[in-house]
Amino acid sequence: MSAVPAGATDRVAGKAADWAAHGGVAARARVIGAEIAARHADAVDRDGRFPAEAFDALRAERLLGAMVPAELGGGGASLFEVAAACHALARGCGSTGMIHAMHQIQVACLVNHGGNGWHRGLMARIAAEQLLLGSATTEAETGGDIRNSVCAVTVDQEAGAGRFTLAKNASVISYGDQSDAILVTARRTPDSPSSDQVLVVLSRDDFRLEKTTLWDAMGMRGTCSDGYRLEASGVIDQILPLPYADLSAQTMLPVTHILWSSCWLGIAADAVSRARAFVRAEARRKPGTTPASAVRLAEATAKLQQMKAVILAAISRYELACGSPELLSGLPFATAMATLKVTTSELVREVVEAAIRTCGLAGYRNDTPYSLGRHLRDAHSAALMIGNDRIMSHVATQLLVQRDGSGPFE
Ligand SMILES: Cc1cc2nc3c(=O)[nH]c(=O)nc-3n(C[C@H](O)[C@H](O)[C@H](O)COP(=O)(O)OP(=O)(O)OC[C@H]3O[C@@H](n4cnc5c(N)ncnc54)[C@H](O)[C@@H]3O)c2cc1C
Repeated sequence: MSAVPAGATDRVAGKAADWAAHGGVAARARVIGAEIAARHADAVDRDGRFPAEAFDALRAERLLGAMVPAELGGGGASLFEVAAACHALARGCGSTGMIHAMHQIQVACLVNHGGNGWHRGLMARIAAEQLLLGSATTEAETGGDIRNSVCAVTVDQEAGAGRFTLAKNASVISYGDQSDAILVTARRTPDSPSSDQVLVVLSRDDFRLEKTTLWDAMGMRGTCSDGYRLEASGVIDQILPLPYADLSAQTMLPVTHILWSSCWLGIAADAVSRARAFVRAEARRKPGTTPASAVRLAEATAKLQQMKAVILAAISRYELACGSPELLSGLPFATAMATLKVTTSELVREVVEAAIRTCGLAGYRNDTPYSLGRHLRDAHSAALMIGNDRIMSHVATQLLVQRDGSGPFE
């Protein structure tokens, strides 16, 4: 693949005008979330299908390139704006919000760590062609232990220096069938220890997927998180140069936890909206009284505020640390980002449960405007996406060696 396509930079001025004319990333995502993702959410969930209508709209609004730098034709959006977009989309459909989050996480890795011509060329294509990026970190042999790989990058002796092959037993690749590029973790060489990993960027022409399992899950059904045998080849330039351990600490882990959490916040916010609508309807039926279930609504609202507060604090902390590999790679930052995910993934389920208790049977049934079954099933995936117990046992080990911080609020 070539580097930045001819004329790409000439088109940038026009793209910048487009971005200004159509309003902010979050504002456009709000419209798509409320008007398109929400309309198709039940069908996406029922049929376990990719939310194609929402992604057609995201492409039309050029939101898949939101994080790509403006000089490559993208929106140059901040993490805050993209987090707000994930939240807005997940309010309408949890799967749409999660796919969008997973895509933007991969884009963030490219933007922060992909400086060569190949990577810049792909970023320009993401903006111009609105490519969708997937991820293959989970491996059948290692499960959620994504900091160890069995598969390895192998120099392709027959094809000559500078080319590699890679085969991975990827037990989960969300929307693999729809992905235009996939970022894959692997050992640096066949002789490397399992933790000496790199992140390999593959575009559609570089890989072949053979489906091994189908995604028929309790929730997040529209993510189509099938299992695949992935076989790929490419040029060495496609491999991000920073060791995955550092790349994960500085970008992949914090951005993942912030964007996943923002998606879960959207699910929780929609559950609270439904509970509020139920309580208001009850109040209209019995004027002059406060419905008894309003107490549960207050409880759900308090937990929702807690979620918002920890996510906003994490985004500020990330933005303050950006540009300082020392801060980003430090244990206090790692602990803050790990516990963010654990906290929000537990809270989303608690908020949805409190909303169900608010609505009673109207929330439990699948056929009312207050139905919360899909929200509860989607919310249950949160604690499993890299198991909370796995994360907490890692944090517990970190805390043994971590010193008290000396900064404000430490
Ligand atoms: C909706 C969804 C989409 C996903 N999309 C993708 C994707 O696109 N690409 C991708 O690569 N992966 C994806 N995943 C997989 C995800 O990233 C995790 O790898 C996966 O959820 C972990 O699966 P597991 O519970 O089987 O694995 P394991 O990590 O093996 O965990 C099994 C159980 O053991 C517990 N456990 C493990 N280690 C410890 C420990 N040290 N202490 C205590 N308990 C422990 C865990 O908490 C868990 O309960 C997705 C998952 C979901 C739910």
